[in-house]
Amino acid sequence: MQTGDQNLVKKLNKSIVLEIVQKKSPVSRTDISRETGLTKATVSSLIGELIDEHFIYEIENGESKGGRKPVMLYFNQQAGFTVGVDIGVDRILGVLSDLNGNLLEQYDTELTDTAVQTVTDEVTRSIKSLCESSPDSPYGIVGAGIGVPGTVGNRGEIRFAPNLGWENVHLKETLEEIFPFPIIIENEANAGAHGEKLYGAGSEASNLVYVSVGTGIGTGIVIDGNLYRGERGFSGEMGHMSIELNGIKCTCGNIGCWELYASEHALLEQAAHLKTFETYEKVSFDDVINEASLGNGEVLTLINTIGNYLGVGVVNIINTFNPEQVIIGNRFARLEKWMTVPVERVLSQRLLPYQQKSFQLKFSSLRSLSCAIGSSAFALAHFFSKYKISIG
Ligand SMILES: [Zn+2]
Repeated sequence: MQTGDQNLVKKLNKSIVLEIVQKKSPVSRTDISRETGLTKATVSSLIGELIDEHFIYEIENGESKGGRKPVMLYFNQQAGFTVGVDIGVDRILGVLSDLNGNLLEQYDTELTDTAVQTVTDEVTRSIKSLCESSPDSPYGIVGAGIGVPGTVGNRGEIRFAPNLGWENVHLKETLEEIFPFPIIIENEANAGAHGEKLYGAGSEASNLVYVSVGTGIGTGIVIDGNLYRGERGFSGEMGHMSIELNGIKCTCGNIGCWELYASEHALLEQAAHLKTFETYEKVSFDDVINEASLGNGEVLTLINTIGNYLGVGVVNIINTFNPEQVIIGNRFARLEKWMTVPVERVLSQRLLPYQQKSFQLKFSSLRSLSCAIGSSAFALAHFFSKYKISIG
């Protein structure tokens, strides 16, 4: 065996040992040796390195069956932290997570405008605030993931974010000049899909489509457990599939785009014409939810109409991907109570019975945090890629 191979084998074994402690702690050296088939000497040597690197710590505990007390190994989930930021059109949501993805802090601020400089300043402020609230740790902040509502190239460049009015923005480079850790930029729907797959409604599914319904609509596609990014990272722009042949003109250049009929923007624009809100200067999403909660018929009818359009897009998704689940997330997750009926009705009217079998319509269980949590998880995976070998 060549030295290169030996290093690779060692890295692989160390990666497997770390993974077992992370997923199953507390475990003993004997447990790991039994599970991996590695000798006790090899396991002890790898554990020694992982303890030196602060990823694992040991505690003497458990009942002894005579002889020495068993020493149990724990994953040090607070050896470092990651930040996740969701850039919305009118607000920024941030989270601080530990190395197991547990949520420690949240940051929420409104955006007054979407100029690149304003948003960059607010994102910088949110990351700084979350960094300051993180406990002392050996690795500190190991990375930040940022979800943006637009197309992101394979090198993290933001190509086109129509709802922000951005084209070719290099936020990654700007933030990496400010912060000493890696910045990962992802499309917000991809980040949301990743978050729901890891920690939310999609944890049991291998094939799912996450539909992020906020100001616009984006989708994140998970196939065989992995996020599908497309050839150049631009997959999932289903908010711009046409559902009205002669419909409204969209900022993307197309006509009759799905998001013009089934997004929060569509809902609020149409709500502004309702009698209920005729005295309002500006109708907010909370206003609509409040009226729906009070059983306002006019508002419920509008939500029902928007739900019909949402359902039509979901039908197209199911016909294309045959997923186990479609998860409705972002702001519209709050409309679950009223959206489920119209969307499911459209599915039952328009899908063939065999397509409906075993399919589940779900709403995001992480609610508005899917994207921030998923973005944080990307930063975490980037950090661990130095220590772990992915064999999945
Ligand atoms: Zn469009």
